[in-house]
Amino acid sequence: MRIVQKEEAVMLLKQGDLVVLPTETVYGLAADGLNTDAVKKIFTAKGRPFGNPLILHVSSLEMLERLVKDISIQSKILMQLFWPGPLTLVFNRSELVPDIVTAGLDTVCVRMPKQDSTLAIIEALGKPLAAPSANKSGRPSPTNLADLEKEMPEIAVIDGGQTELGIESTVVDAREKDVKILRLGSLEVEKIEAALDEKVILIEKDSRAKSPGQNFKHYSPNAEVILIWPWETFGEKVSNENGSRYTTVEEAIADLYDRFKCGIICDSSRETLYLGYDVLPLGIGSIEHAKNLFATLHKAEDLAWEKIIVDMSKIYSKEALGPTVVERLKRSAE
Ligand code: AMP
Ligand code: MG
Repeated sequence: MRIVQKEEAVMLLKQGDLVVLPTETVYGLAADGLNTDAVKKIFTAKGRPFGNPLILHVSSLEMLERLVKDISIQSKILMQLFWPGPLTLVFNRSELVPDIVTAGLDTVCVRMPKQDSTLAIIEALGKPLAAPSANKSGRPSPTNLADLEKEMPEIAVIDGGQTELGIESTVVDAREKDVKILRLGSLEVEKIEAALDEKVILIEKDSRAKSPGQNFKHYSPNAEVILIWPWETFGEKVSNENGSRYTTVEEAIADLYDRFKCGIICDSSRETLYLGYDVLPLGIGSIEHAKNLFATLHKAEDLAWEKIIVDMSKIYSKEALGPTVVERLKRSAE
């Protein structure tokens, strides 16, 4: 891994090369977003399907205005409140945006990251950066340099330490009156609804024609992830939500522990339930769960666990980042 400083990063990006940059969500694999050949290198390095469009990262509203055709009132409200930050918005694209970025769609996704060093690099380049997560396609995103080393060892990187939030941005289509969430992320849906003073529509997977990349395989470590759902939460039955073959952690342990290298991921308050077993605690509360999730999946893989048993009690939650964490875990278990 080669750590570089800002000046070199800008030079590499100018000449059409890739650089890994920290953001407040996860590390991004960045290229000059207006250079088709440079953007092509992102798809090659990640092994990413060309049908999965990229997000452009801007450092100013002037830069945004060059990339898009019109900006709705709703989008303006959200940008004013949440940029820079983990909010990606869908816009009708201008001619400036290369087809490769949008996978041929007539819309483009844009966000302004909240990371001073990355904003300064975009500013110095004078162009938006295309920057998906810096992992091989389908794998958990890197949130620290050790995990990044596993994914993109050969790409120059700006060291930003551990990323602040740990999960990608929330993707929102606010072009029309009915605002839609195309992908859950690090900005809570409640905050978006409070800002707009209206309910938003959550677009489910499989019907995500507007957010095409959502149907590709995602966030999966090199181990089987098995989610064990709580029987009841908030008086609501959620057990076996995604058809897991076990209904309790004990049942999974009894069946798997002797035959496979196994471990348990759980909310930190439940760690003592599993004394004597290999456990990776996820922290307490959805903000900590989000921050630690991908790093913990990477750690489980580093420990050569073949089966990752996730105790969803206290992780399954409808509050704050609970839905986002649950969505990422479900995808990693698919
Ligand atoms: P990531 O893979 O985390 O970089 O996020 C990129 C995701 O943003 C894609 O997988 C899509 O879900 C979404 N996205 C990017 N561009 C568009 C677009 N033009 N319209 C809808 N969703 C998009
Ligand atoms: Mg990604």
